[in-house]
Amino acid sequence: MYKIAVAGTGYVGLVAGVCFAEMGHRVTCVDIDQVKVELMKSGVSPIYEADLQDLMIKNNESGNLNYTTDYHSAYKDADAIFIGVGTPEQPDGSANLSYIATVARQIAESVEKDCLVVVKSTVPVGTNDKVEQFIQDFLINDVRVEVASNPEFLAQGSAVHDTLHAERIIIGTESKWAEELLQDIYKPFNLPIVSVNRRSAEMIKYASNDFLALKISYMNDIANLCELVGADIQDVAKGMSFDERIGSKFLNAGIGFGGSCFPKDTKALDYLAKQNGYELKTIQAAINVNKEQKTMLYKKASRRLITFNGLKVAVLGLTFKPGTDDLREAASLENIPLLLEQGADIYAFDPVGAANFANVHPEGRHRKGSITYVSNVEEAIKDANVCFIFTEWGEVKEVKPSMYKELMRTPLVYDGRNIYSIDEMERAQVEYHSIGRKTVERQNMKEPNERELQSIRS
Ligand code: NAD
Repeated sequence: MYKIAVAGTGYVGLVAGVCFAEMGHRVTCVDIDQVKVELMKSGVSPIYEADLQDLMIKNNESGNLNYTTDYHSAYKDADAIFIGVGTPEQPDGSANLSYIATVARQIAESVEKDCLVVVKSTVPVGTNDKVEQFIQDFLINDVRVEVASNPEFLAQGSAVHDTLHAERIIIGTESKWAEELLQDIYKPFNLPIVSVNRRSAEMIKYASNDFLALKISYMNDIANLCELVGADIQDVAKGMSFDERIGSKFLNAGIGFGGSCFPKDTKALDYLAKQNGYELKTIQAAINVNKEQKTMLYKKASRRLITFNGLKVAVLGLTFKPGTDDLREAASLENIPLLLEQGADIYAFDPVGAANFANVHPEGRHRKGSITYVSNVEEAIKDANVCFIFTEWGEVKEVKPSMYKELMRTPLVYDGRNIYSIDEMERAQVEYHSIGRKTVERQNMKEPNERELQSIRS
């Protein structure tokens, strides 16, 4: 059992802290946000992640898990301090390392015994060398402090599961002492550990994330071509997925990747390459394809409709993916301002993300359009002229195609997540535009026969 401090209680820091406590370590989570700390102390998770709150309550009660804003008390006698603060994108695409630097300085001024500083945040290759030097420069006490890299691979929406059942733990160290300590901390997880040097660990994180972003953009690019040449991207993806060299995951075409990682990590790696005199052309292509893809549905709908002005527009899903309340780089954030600017009256549904979205776009009238947050899909689509699907929440996937036909003023659906089959939308007589597949036009709609009518109704 080790005494662990975690700096930053966002998706990465809090989940790591809770899981370390669950594995028997004594953990203190540190955040600068007093409100968050008070919430966590009372057993409430400041973020939405499956199972997180239950594990918090359990470990709060056992005494393994504590929270504080007082970094000095948490860091001074910790065996290891994990850093999980943000590294957001700067206007030039580089990673903002100021939060890391602040924590490094706080650590240097606090530690009173030998300790390992473990950077979980995603940082450009070479950053941890600088973090170690920075800590040495500001160290007050005569103690040994080393820095290790331990990038995080959890996915929001399944963060706790991904941490407890990680496919691999990457540890990047520069000494046997650091390597063995980190291996020992992770021992109770009983997971495969890949031990490399610090710079390789930093690169593994970017190379992995950017590969996935590249895979998504590649499928989106192929999807756009499929539409033009009459192929179906879902059939294409299915055919590709049997090839083990390709794999079956991350082959779904859609309206691009969002979230707090892929967009910034592609740009940060591109920036790092440029800094080193290299053009990372594949990653630049992934970034450009994604930028176009985000507003693909809006562009399609703008070609189809004379105007959005005064139309009731249903929006299903606001978060960047299901299972999270995170809106960072969500497609909704790009499309909704465009729709509002065109005078649309938006009725938005999201099971957990609406409150966060309302902080950015408050309910009510905007300059030309308006936005109303509703608590179910039916309210959103009732009498709507057009419906956009941005996030494939379970509540959205459950909606039967016939409901669009029955409830909407015009059954016109733009689906950015390819939730429905072309056949079922055709049968339900819904005009249906999706990604990389044939459009169900009005004139293509078959009148359903009696048997099909019954299956639609049930
Ligand atoms: P986040 O923005 O959700 O959380 C960061 C937290 O750090 C905030 O609560 C903030 O108040 C706190 N903080 C800032 N300065 C602090 C300080 N000096 N001391 C203590 N706390 C401080 O961030 P996140 O999404 O958890 O991401 C953190 C890092 O992990 C980033 O580098 C990110 O790229 C990486 N990462 C994120 C994910 C993900 O899915 N979110 C996955 C893998 C890696």
